[in-house]
Formats: sequence, structure tokens, C-alpha cells
Amino acid sequence: MSRIEARRDEDTAVTGNLVDRLLTGLPADAVLTDPDVTVSYANDMASFCPAGTPAVVVLPRTVEQVQHVMRIATELRVPVVPQGARTGLSGAANASDGCIVLSLTRMDRILEINPVDRIAVVEPGVVNATLSRAVNELGLYYPPDPSSWEMCTIGGNIGTASGGLCCVKYGVTAEYVLGLEVVLADGRLMSTGRRTAKGVAGYDLTRLFVGSEGSLGIVVQAVLGLRPKPPEQLVLAAEFASGAAACDAVCKIMEGGHVPSLLELMDRTTVKAVNDLAHMGLPETTEALLLAAFDTTDPAADLAALGALCEAAGATQVVPADDAAESELLLQARRLSLTALEAVKGTTMIDDVCVPRSRLGELLEGTERIAEKHGLTIGVVAHAGDGNTHPTVCFDAADPDESRRARESFEEIMALGLELGGTITGEHGVGVLKKEWLAREIGPVGVEMQRAVKGVFDPLGILNPGKLF
Ligand SMILES: Cc1cc2nc3c(=O)[nH]c(=O)nc-3n(C[C@H](O)[C@H](O)[C@H](O)COP(=O)(O)OP(=O)(O)OC[C@H]3O[C@@H](n4cnc5c(N)ncnc54)[C@H](O)[C@@H]3O)c2cc1C
Repeated sequence: MSRIEARRDEDTAVTGNLVDRLLTGLPADAVLTDPDVTVSYANDMASFCPAGTPAVVVLPRTVEQVQHVMRIATELRVPVVPQGARTGLSGAANASDGCIVLSLTRMDRILEINPVDRIAVVEPGVVNATLSRAVNELGLYYPPDPSSWEMCTIGGNIGTASGGLCCVKYGVTAEYVLGLEVVLADGRLMSTGRRTAKGVAGYDLTRLFVGSEGSLGIVVQAVLGLRPKPPEQLVLAAEFASGAAACDAVCKIMEGGHVPSLLELMDRTTVKAVNDLAHMGLPETTEALLLAAFDTTDPAADLAALGALCEAAGATQVVPADDAAESELLLQARRLSLTALEAVKGTTMIDDVCVPRSRLGELLEGTERIAEKHGLTIGVVAHAGDGNTHPTVCFDAADPDESRRARESFEEIMALGLELGGTITGEHGVGVLKKEWLAREIGPVGVEMQRAVKGVFDPLGILNPGKLF
């Protein structure tokens, strides 16, 4: 028997033992071993991120089943990669070789919606849009709304600390996670946080878990804060002859004390891509399209004031939506942006650089320079009100030279973001994609401390290894 064959037999025996052990606490339909099936759980939606081959995929329905998986993983020293809907854009949910993929998608119950305490208690596999609609029916509002909201899960939103369109007014996921139930690496169950309006007992471990990318424990339940449902928002579209003018308008709006419920930017490339994909009739002659909204009691009046500021900043046209339906159409166009840019050349690298709003214009201008230097199409779509941009490099992955240039421009955009006092990631996370860049942003001492924290929760290093640092 060759050495390779012997190794393969050994691997099969190890996996067989692992699967047998998992089956002692999980039903057969919760343990997937067919390689044709398990391979489909290897990746999230990020390009250029290596992924390994999972040994097995498990789909638990209960906390006890998750505890069972973690006990076995600890005993056998097998890595575990938690997954939600795998819409992540940093490779943070990618499998590592021989791992247990722990998909939380079947734990998808909304356990409680409490209008008095203004909280929802949910399992991690609840899809963001499902929760949003359920609380809406009771006159409540769960604000974090990533563009992927129809697919992504609350567990994944917590894992990545995700943002969305309305963060400019309502803030990001971290501000809505009040308490968690977490299964630790060794299978113990830990409660963090609270379901009260206030609470300062001990270190804020809840916040530590938000954005931890599955590297500290498995979130099996979350207490989420809710707000009263605001009035329907009304959207305005403003066209600009340059990105700089649109960014100037953003600064004027924020400086003027306005609090829009949304302030998004799409550049000409993005507008055209959305039109090509969905025939939405957006104005392609403009260099930058700003979408703004108010969900106040008199949105038309607030939009009129904001429109005037846009005109003062050089808007060539300001068009308020007539009603909720027209507003929704504009939002749909924005939500389609990343998908539409992907269709331009087949592959994209989506950056996620966030800069102080006052430096937004410089980031856009610098991105244009980088695109020109590398001869590439880079569409920019941005949560402009947060200074959070998604310069999206469109390229043909089958062309090695274009792929290399795409990678280089992606990195130059991050370097530019740091130079402008920003961060390498405003909402998509570090994952595999930006590991080296995290070290550049937080420095060696920062990395050392973060590793030490991980060591407390995961001394054997079995939780989502190879991510973050
Ligand atoms: C078209 C498109 C638009 C997008 N728009 C936005 C946007 O506007 N804003 C934004 O922030 N993001 C956006 N994203 C990125 C992505 O949707 C978010 O990062 C989302 O939060 C990921 O959720 P998920 O359920 O897919 O998680 P996954 O991708 O499966 O996992 C994400 C991370 O969370 C961890 N994780 C998942 N579940 C658990 C759990 N129960 N316990 C512990 N760790 C867990 C994983 O290990 C991984 O590290 C977009 C993605 C796409 C494809």
C-alpha cells in the first residue's frame, strides 16, 4: 500500500469515528457526509478566499445538539466552522480541511416578541427579513438591514456585526444585541447580557461576541432590542455630475444636523450595471446618484430641505419619489447593486473600506485613480452617510493578469482607506480575506491581545481556525 493510500485510509477511519460519535447525539438527517453535498458548504460568497474540505456537515435543531457537537469536537480535537446562510463576503464561514461545518440554519425559531420590553428572542438561524416582517406586524422595528436581508441569518449578522442601509440613523447590529446564549468550545452553555433596558453587570461579553466571526463560541440564542415601527420612509434621488459633488452634499447634510433614515451612493458604473441586470431605468448620464430617505412624520418636507442642500452642492437633478412604491423601487435598485456589479465581468472583489465622512470624496477620487492605473472597472456603491464604501472590482477570473490586477487594486484601496483615517472593514469583517490587513490596522500589540482573548474561550484553537489572524 502506498503512503498516500495509507493516509487516505487513516483519514477515512478518523472521519468514520467522528461521524459515529456525532450520531450518538444527533438524528441521521442532521449529519451529512456525502462529499458531493458537503462540498457545497465549503464557501461563503467571497472571492479569492481559500476553503478546505469539510469532513462532515451537521445541522442541529436544539441547543443540546450543539453542545453534543462541541463536546465531541473538543474530545477529538476537530475544528468547527459555524455557518449561517453563507452570504458572508470575507471567507469567514469557509470550511477548513477535515472540519465539522456546524450549520445553524435549522435553528430558525422566533421564540418571543415582547412589545413591552421591546425585545425579540430568536434562534440564530432566523433569516433577517423574517424577523423584520414578524416584528413589523406588531408595530415594532428591527433596524439592522443588510442588503442580503432576505437570505442572511441573525447568527451570521451577529458573527459579522453587520450593518445595512438604515444604519446612518439607527446604528449597526451591535447596538441591538442585548444578550446571548453561547455554546462554548468545550460544550458548556454560557449566558451573556440581559433582556432589560439597562444593565452593566460585569464585562460586556455580549459585545465581544458581536463581530467575533465564530471564533469564540456558537451563538444559539439572542435577545435583540426593538424599536417602535417608524412611519413609511420616502426616498429622494439626486443626480450629480461628479462623485466629489455628491460627497460634498453628504457632508452638507450631516453638518446641517439632518438625520436621514438612509443615505446611499451609487456611481455611474453601478447604476448602469443595475439597469443592465434589472432594466430599472435609472439615469445613466449621471456620475453619482445619491439616494436619501426620511421616515419622519413629514418626510416630504424633510426631503425638500435635503434636496435644497443637494442642489447647493451641485446636484443636476433632484427627484423625490411620489409614494412608498416608488421609494421601494429605488431601494431595490440599491440592494441589487452588488449582484449587478458581479454580472459585469463574472467575478468581483468587494471592498468594504469605511472612512470618516469628511474624507469620502478623497476615497472616491483615489479609487478612480486606482481603477485607471490598473485598467479595471471598479464600481462604487456606498453607505455614504456612514462613510462606508464598497468599491467593487469587476474582473474576469479566467484571466490571470486581470485577476492579479484586481487583487492589487483591492489592496491599494484598503491602504488608501487606512491613510484617510479609516478602517479596512466597516461591516463585512476580516475572515480570511483581510487577515494581513487586520494586523496592519490594529498593530502587533492589538493582535497579541486579541489572540489572548481567543485563547481564553478556545484554548485548543478548534473554533473557526485560520480566520481573523
Ligand atoms: C448581495 C449581498 C449584499 C450584502 N449586503 C450587506 C450589507 O449591506 N451589510 C452587511 O453588513 N453585509 C452585507 N453582506 C454580507 C453578509 O450578508 C453579512 O455579512 C451577513 O451578516 C452574513 O450572514 P450569514 O447568515 O450569511 O452568515 P455566514 O456568512 O454564514 O457567517 C458569517 C460569520 O458568522 C459566523 N456565524 C454564523 N452563525 C453563527 C453562530 N450561530 N454562532 C457563531 N458564529 C456564527 C460564521 O462563522 C462567519 O464567521 C452582503 C452579502 C451579499 C451576498
